[in-house]
Amino acid sequence: MTVDEQAGMSRMLEDIHREVLYTADETGLASFHQAVMAAMASVPRMRFVPHGLESAAFDNGPLPIGHGQTISQPYIVALMSELLRVGKESVVLEVGTGSGYQAAVLSELVRQVYSLELVPELASEASERLHRLGYHNVEVRQGDGYHGWAEHSPYDGIIVTAAAPHIPHALIEQLRDGARLVIPVGDAFGPQRLLVVTKHNGKLDEQIILPVAFVPLRHSTVDRPTTLH
Ligand code: SAH
Repeated sequence: MTVDEQAGMSRMLEDIHREVLYTADETGLASFHQAVMAAMASVPRMRFVPHGLESAAFDNGPLPIGHGQTISQPYIVALMSELLRVGKESVVLEVGTGSGYQAAVLSELVRQVYSLELVPELASEASERLHRLGYHNVEVRQGDGYHGWAEHSPYDGIIVTAAAPHIPHALIEQLRDGARLVIPVGDAFGPQRLLVVTKHNGKLDEQIILPVAFVPLRHSTVDRPTTLH
């Protein structure tokens, strides 16, 4: 990283730290694990934003990445990584690859990340970017997150980075017992809440963390019958 980028990164980490303190009453978290903050410090966010937006890469806010989608706010990426409670041996599923930034952060914390992205161009761009930057324990596939990715299940954690109207059934099925699903639930333009859903002996325990604003988790139209007239 250049000197300017290092300064930007320090500012981003301070902003996250400040927001952790500001939201501590709501989230119940007074600090994030050192491993999570180290992962945030190591992933070069400026490589995940579109050309021309590099100077805003370290601001603690979301940014557009094309196709009407966004790269999430750094604090939210850190929070969701923290809430997953995963470790070096974990295998994790992400729904909503987008730029690949959240996947890169997770890849620093776990053994393997599988990530699904609905938009084919975003999936291939993120896959190429992650490979180029050396994140070799992330596999990206174009697919609909409502169906999950059964092949590598059960997962030690599942993270959804788009807001779903309800918790997709397939994701619960693909979650290991005792593991956590971190997911924003709510209307596309209405109130959304970040939830931590823990599976205990097949039963679900839901914890509301805080209000959030994500782009919607969309349904794939590929399989829908086309009406011709
Ligand atoms: N985690 C991303 C931010 C994602 S924005 C990052 O770090 O950059 C949400 C993403 O979810 C968008 O890229 C959107 O195309 C994708 N998405 C929306 N609906 C989806 C679905 N049903 N399955 C998989 N991905 C979906």
